[in-house]
Amino acid sequence: MTLIRLLAAVAIAVIVVPAHAAVEGHTFSNTRAFRTTHASLDLTADFTQQRLKGYVDLTIEQLAPEVRQLTLDTRDLTIHIVRLQAATPAPLEFKLGKRDAILGSPLDITLPATLPGKTFVVRIAYETSPNASGLQWLTPAQTAGKQQPYLYSQSQAIHARSWIPLQDTPQIRLTYDAHIHTPPQLLAVMSAGNDVNAKRNGDYRFEMPQAIPSYLFALGIGDLAFKPIGPRTGVFAEPVTVDAAAREFSDVESMLTTCEKLFGPYRWGRYDVLILPPSFMWGGMENPRVTFLTPTAIAGDKSLVSIIAHELAHSWSGNLVTNGNWESAWLNEGMTTYLERRIVEALYGTDRRAMDDVLGLQSLQRDIADFTEKGAAQLTRLTPNLDGRDPDDNFSDVPYEKGRLFVGFLEARLGRAKLDEFLRGYFDHFSFQSVTTPDFVAYLQKNLLSQPGINVSQADIQEWMEGTGIPQIAVLPQSDAFDRVDVQRQAWLDGNTAPNKLQVQGWTTQQWLQFLDNLPADISAARLAELDAAFHFTAATNSEIAHSWLKNAIRAQYIAAWPRLEQYLTTIGRRKLVRDLYDELVKTRDGVVRAKAIYAKARPLYQVPLAQQLDEMFKSV
Ligand SMILES: [Zn+2]
Repeated sequence: MTLIRLLAAVAIAVIVVPAHAAVEGHTFSNTRAFRTTHASLDLTADFTQQRLKGYVDLTIEQLAPEVRQLTLDTRDLTIHIVRLQAATPAPLEFKLGKRDAILGSPLDITLPATLPGKTFVVRIAYETSPNASGLQWLTPAQTAGKQQPYLYSQSQAIHARSWIPLQDTPQIRLTYDAHIHTPPQLLAVMSAGNDVNAKRNGDYRFEMPQAIPSYLFALGIGDLAFKPIGPRTGVFAEPVTVDAAAREFSDVESMLTTCEKLFGPYRWGRYDVLILPPSFMWGGMENPRVTFLTPTAIAGDKSLVSIIAHELAHSWSGNLVTNGNWESAWLNEGMTTYLERRIVEALYGTDRRAMDDVLGLQSLQRDIADFTEKGAAQLTRLTPNLDGRDPDDNFSDVPYEKGRLFVGFLEARLGRAKLDEFLRGYFDHFSFQSVTTPDFVAYLQKNLLSQPGINVSQADIQEWMEGTGIPQIAVLPQSDAFDRVDVQRQAWLDGNTAPNKLQVQGWTTQQWLQFLDNLPADISAARLAELDAAFHFTAATNSEIAHSWLKNAIRAQYIAAWPRLEQYLTTIGRRKLVRDLYDELVKTRDGVVRAKAIYAKARPLYQVPLAQQLDEMFKSV
C-alpha cells in the first residue's frame, strides 16, 4: 500500500484475542495441517443489497493426515453450505466461531474420516455483508461519472476474509480463477489476467496462474473504460476520468522498463492501473497486474506519480517476495519505498528524489513523535509486536520510511552496485515465496555481510531491526531545493518579504509542501490570509497541497477556508489526507462540533475501516 499518516489515530488499547486453535500471524487457519493451493470463485455482485453472493471452491492440500478439522478465516460472512466436491458431493458439518473484533470469525469445518486424496476440494456457498470490511459499495452519486454504482475491494491486510472464506495469511500462496456476474452495463476487473478488450455483458472470467497471498485478491466493478499507455500498460477508469488518468500516468511504461533494468524481469505479464473513486482510503494498492489507485494522485502535472512508481515496485518487493507476516511489513513497504525512490531518481532526477526522501523523513519523524508520546514506542521498531493489534495499525510511516532508511544505509555502506546485485539475488532467490524478518536477516548475513571487506556489523543490523526511533547510524537525506524554500519561508515569516515578492517561480508540488508543512504551529489567520491572497491555496486542486493548507487553516482558525474544508472532507476518503484533518479539528470545542457535522455527511463515502476508526475517535472527544 502507499503510505498513510494515520498515527495520531492508532488505537492504543490492546484487544485480547480469544483463545482458538493456533491463533498466530492474524489468522485462525491451521496452516500446518492444511494448505490451500487454488481458489475458484463464482460470485454475483448484487448492488441493490450490496452483497457478493456465490461460492468458492478451495483446493486444499493435507499436510497432517490425522487432523480432521479445517479452519478458515471469515469476517461477517453468511455461510450457506459447505461440501466436499467428490464424485458424490457430500455436505460437511461446519460452525462459525465467536466474532473477534480484529480477526473475524473462525469457520471450523469437520472433514470425513476418509478424504478423496491428499488434495481435495471444498465448496463453500456464502454471501458477504453490506458492511464487509474489505468491500466498498458506492452509489452512483459517490462516483466520478454519477451514473452507475461502483464496487471495489481492499484485502490488505486481513480483509480478504470479509469477502472470501479462506486461509487469510501471507504465509499461504495460491492461484485463482473467477467467474464474476455483474449488471450488464458494468465491467469487472481483477488482480488477474484482464481482457482489455472485454465486451461489457455482465459475465466475466479471470485466471490468475501465479500464486499470490490472499491480501492480493482484488475485484473492481464499475462503469469502466480502458485506455492503453504502452504495449504492456494501460488505465481502467470511469469514462470521465480515463483520458486525464492516461495523460497523468503516461510514464508508466518507462517506469516498468526502468525497474526491470534495476531489479530483473517483470514477471506478471501486463501492468494496468484501475482508478478508483475518491473514497479509496489508501494511495494505491499493489494488486498484481492491476494496481488500484486513488484519483487524488491525478494532479495534472505528474507531480504525484511516485505513487505509481511505488505500486509498480511492489511487483518485486511484496508481490514477488512477500512479507510472511504483518510484523515483517517493512520487507514489503521499506524495500518498495526504496525502489520507488530509485525509479523517481532515474526518471525525474536526483533533486526530485531528494525532496521525496526529505518529505518522507519528516513524516516519519512526526509518526515517531506521535507513537512515543502515546507510550507506543515499540511501534517505531521495524519489528513491532502486533499481538492483539490490527495489522493495519502497523501501516504507519515506520515500515515505509524507516525501512527505506535501512536500505539507504546499506547502499551508503556497500555502494550502489553491490546493493543492487544483492537485491536482484534476493528477489530471485525468494521469488513467489513469503519471507519474514529473520529469514531476511539470515539471507543478508549469508550472502552479503559474511563477505570480506563489508563495513556492516551484526550490531548495526540488530539496531535497525530491534531499535526504536531512527538509529544514529542512519544516513539522513538532504535537499538543496528545500533549503531554498526554507529561506523564502523565513524571509516572509520575519516580515522582510511580501508573499508576492517571494522567489517561488517554478516551485514543484514537493516544494510547496515543504513550505506549508513547516509553517509555525501558532501562525495566525491574518498571516494565512496574506498567503492565500498571493497563492490561492484555499482554491488549490492539488490534493496534497490542499491537505497541507487545510491543516494550517484549522490550526489558525482561518475561517475563509471552512467551505473548502467541508468540501474536501466530504469528497475524499483517503486516510492520509483526511484523518489528521479530523484530529486537528477535534482539538478545540468548536472544532468538535464542526467535525461532527462534516463527518455526518462524509461517513457514507468513507471505506468501512476508516469509518470505524473515526467512529472510535469521535467516541473519545
Ligand atoms: Zn506499499
